Amino acid sequence: MGMNQSAKIVVVGAGSGGITAVAQLLRKRPALKGHVLLIDPAEQHYYQPLWTLVGAGDVKKESTARPMASLIPEGASWLQESVTTFIPKENHLVTEEGTAVQYEYLIIAGGIQLNWEAIPGLRETIGKNGVCSNYSFDTVASTWEAISNFKGGEALFTMPSTPIKCGGAPQKIMYLAEEYFEEHGVRRQSSVHFMTALPNMFAVPRYEKTLNEVVRRKNIQTHFKTELIEIDGPKQVATFENLDTKERFIHHFDLIHVTPPMGPMDFLKNSPITDDTGWVDVNAKTLQHDRFPNVFALGDCSNLPTSKTGAAIRKQAPVVVENLIRLMEHQKSAEAEYDGYTSCPLVTGYGSLVMAEFDYDKQPAESFPIDQSEERLSMFLVKKHFLPILYWDGMLKGLM
Ligand SMILES: Cc1cc2nc3c(=O)[nH]c(=O)nc-3n(C[C@H](O)[C@H](O)[C@H](O)COP(=O)(O)OP(=O)(O)OC[C@H]3O[C@@H](n4cnc5c(N)ncnc54)[C@H](O)[C@@H]3O)c2cc1C
Repeated sequence: MGMNQSAKIVVVGAGSGGITAVAQLLRKRPALKGHVLLIDPAEQHYYQPLWTLVGAGDVKKESTARPMASLIPEGASWLQESVTTFIPKENHLVTEEGTAVQYEYLIIAGGIQLNWEAIPGLRETIGKNGVCSNYSFDTVASTWEAISNFKGGEALFTMPSTPIKCGGAPQKIMYLAEEYFEEHGVRRQSSVHFMTALPNMFAVPRYEKTLNEVVRRKNIQTHFKTELIEIDGPKQVATFENLDTKERFIHHFDLIHVTPPMGPMDFLKNSPITDDTGWVDVNAKTLQHDRFPNVFALGDCSNLPTSKTGAAIRKQAPVVVENLIRLMEHQKSAEAEYDGYTSCPLVTGYGSLVMAEFDYDKQPAESFPIDQSEERLSMFLVKKHFLPILYWDGMLKGLM
């Protein structure tokens, strides 16, 4: 600790983006083994997309976590520290532990920050009083507890106005909960509400249409442009603001699933590598930094104008790797381009899912030869059984 280190390629964050990029790079260029350093303080790595099904009691929480040490690609080393400061003009960064790290090339994949504190009352009550959230490993068990103990009443599901990871997750858990209530005889004595800061159910009309039908069929009450601003756990009341009229109102709850506001990570926000909004400033196509050409970024921490998902990273990583290799080996400008592809597997029940896939222009970019705007059991099975294998054994191994 506190010693200086250097590596040809330094990668900040060993989550979905960091591990995938490094695994692909070392597969393409085995000669780089011994020259790549991943920096991440976390003991565990999580497959977050399954938290939707963990919260619904359909998948075990433990299956979504693996020790970070077991996932560091062979040939890369791992510094288990937190980056605090970037000095990109000097190709250099510093960690909280005081280690100074010198690099020739830098990849940033630091993720997104959950801002629980932005909602007064939330931190104190999360996991109690029917207040739950799928958005972290530490709170996801509280969702299943709240759903399985629900005896009827008001069930609320929130969606904030900030960018979030997996834009569909706040409503997926609502559909699962509603089905569970129906099957366990408590649906008739309860009402289900979607309190969303957005003006519609989904930004892509093709999938929005299906989701509007789902909401109608399940008799869910939608409140658009409505944002959670405060919560009182012991009293079980939440305060909301109508974003158009700025009027505030309170709503009683027996269960509330909260998607916390999110934003750029503190350690990135105030650094020279971000734009004025705090996201890492990269070219939307080449993923190369706009001002520091030896810096690339991918995933949730970037300012790419697409929906923040692991599926998007699957298409971003090869672009970062190819453009990095072009620069490193030939001093050539970036040529590989990302089209904004992202995917949101919209779970609508315990055996149904709408597999949304689209690009920067919100045009469908579908992978399967079927109508993916329909709810399907096959796509649910893909999410529950196939995508986790694809993640651990494919993506994180650099095989796709
Ligand atoms: C409930 C939920 C459901 C989701 N559903 C889906 C889905 O169905 N499909 C889908 O594709 N995606 C889904 N996602 C989103 C997906 O998990 C993320 O988009 C993806 O993990 C982002 O990868 P990343 O590498 O950008 O960030 P992460 O995987 O979050 O990794 C960021 C890493 O940075 C590290 N880090 C933090 N601070 C520092 C620091 N100071 N220094 C160094 N490292 C640091 C962290 O420890 C972490 O390991 C879901 C997410 C959630 C929470």
